[in-house]
Amino acid sequence: MTDDANYDYDLFVIGAGSGGVRASRVAASHGARVAVAEEFRVGGTCVIRGCVPKKLLVYGSHFAEELQDAANYGWTVENTKFDWPTLRDAVLRDVDRLNAAYTSTLETHKVERFLERAVVTGPHSVRLASGREITAKHILVSTGAWPVMPEFEGAEHCITSNEVFHLEKFPRRVVISGAGYIAMEFAGIFNALGSHVTVVNRSETILRSYDEALRDRLLQITMARGIQYRFNCPFEKVVKRDDGLLEVWLKGQIDPILADQVLIATGRRPKTDGLGLETAGVKLGQSGEILVDDHAQTSCPSISAVGDVTNRVQLTPVAIREGQAFADRVFGGKHVTIDYSCIPSAVFSQPPLAGVGPTEGQARNKYGSIKVYSSDFRPMKNIFGHRPERGLYKMIVDAATDRVLAIHMIGPEAPEILQAAAIAVKAGLTKADFDATVALHPSMAEELVLMK
Ligand code: NDP
Repeated sequence: MTDDANYDYDLFVIGAGSGGVRASRVAASHGARVAVAEEFRVGGTCVIRGCVPKKLLVYGSHFAEELQDAANYGWTVENTKFDWPTLRDAVLRDVDRLNAAYTSTLETHKVERFLERAVVTGPHSVRLASGREITAKHILVSTGAWPVMPEFEGAEHCITSNEVFHLEKFPRRVVISGAGYIAMEFAGIFNALGSHVTVVNRSETILRSYDEALRDRLLQITMARGIQYRFNCPFEKVVKRDDGLLEVWLKGQIDPILADQVLIATGRRPKTDGLGLETAGVKLGQSGEILVDDHAQTSCPSISAVGDVTNRVQLTPVAIREGQAFADRVFGGKHVTIDYSCIPSAVFSQPPLAGVGPTEGQARNKYGSIKVYSSDFRPMKNIFGHRPERGLYKMIVDAATDRVLAIHMIGPEAPEILQAAAIAVKAGLTKADFDATVALHPSMAEELVLMK
């Protein structure tokens, strides 16, 4: 079959998440006949059970601190009470709104939707769960990733980030396995909302990929806020008692930790199981990720992949860029490649942490001679709120060229501030350029141009 008109579609996308929806809509706007299959809900992890609902829970939990601070500003706030079902249901309603918005985007662009599972049956063919066979000139796999559930006795009593947004009752005691993004974000949410939180990690660190000084600051602050940590403690088993409470037994510990909920946040694995990729000769890596070249193409030329399923950078804006670049290149005749350098990222912990560029250790290894500037300060908001917590900003500069290689920040609003600073880092500005910029006072962001 060589004539394009003989295919049912020019593009068939499997997975309507951030990358898949972007690729579908852009390909359609270039004139392609596009269809997309989604087995759960249009919008994908970010919208349905990730970034968006999580951020709303972070906002919701911030009121605990703000209501306390309010008294210092002269407000009388009496009988404050938190109601989990109200927050949960409001967040889920917003998820419905976004799900409808994404669906409508696909409709507007005349992308046909199949709300069922699709599997690959060959280089140009897929089969829907209903049994229908469909052909397409191009297939794009954008099925994302799925929480890893390590094997231990009683794992079935635990939840992952898929279930955490739907809890019937607010948990008084939460044990979280893992100390990465999801663990630290939900530790902050539950802690602020009043749960007793214990974070348990297999290693002796939190947020392995972030700069050490910031990780240490987050650890100190969150411990002072009441989060407990157990390091080098793999799970042994989780036992459900008759009264419904969970006993979390850790290797090498004598007593179990009691919990109402146990959240497993130990990474996310590319979702390729049972997708039929082998029928088209698509090669997978060790974690099941789809191996792609610089143009998102797999080992089968008619099949491409974008987003978390390729396990390159598991971040929504990267998946969106990859989806856009794929559609522009294949259907818009543009030669786009993605620059993966200087990708800013943030952890919406409390306080949040954000960074762009290499950590101090990575920069020393790569550049040899570097200069490190920092600002360790107590945000005005914390002084007035009688909180001893300090913010920390770090700037890493190439000693030979004065170019700013990286910025790392922890403190209120760090992600909001870092996004703007990342432009300067990406543009290759120097420390002298930062110094030449007049401070915007009073702000936390002004520390960026005052670092010593
Ligand atoms: P992370 O990779 O961030 O962290 C995984 C954690 O689990 C680490 O602490 C790791 O320990 C531990 N771990 C890994 N494997 C095992 C295992 N087999 N048994 C026990 N512990 C284990 O994963 P998350 O699940 O938190 O998040 C998944 C991805 O989602 C992130 O990598 C990120 O890309 C994305 N995400 C991004 C967010 C954002 O941008 N703000 C928010 C949420 C998710 P160790 O210390 O040894 O590494």
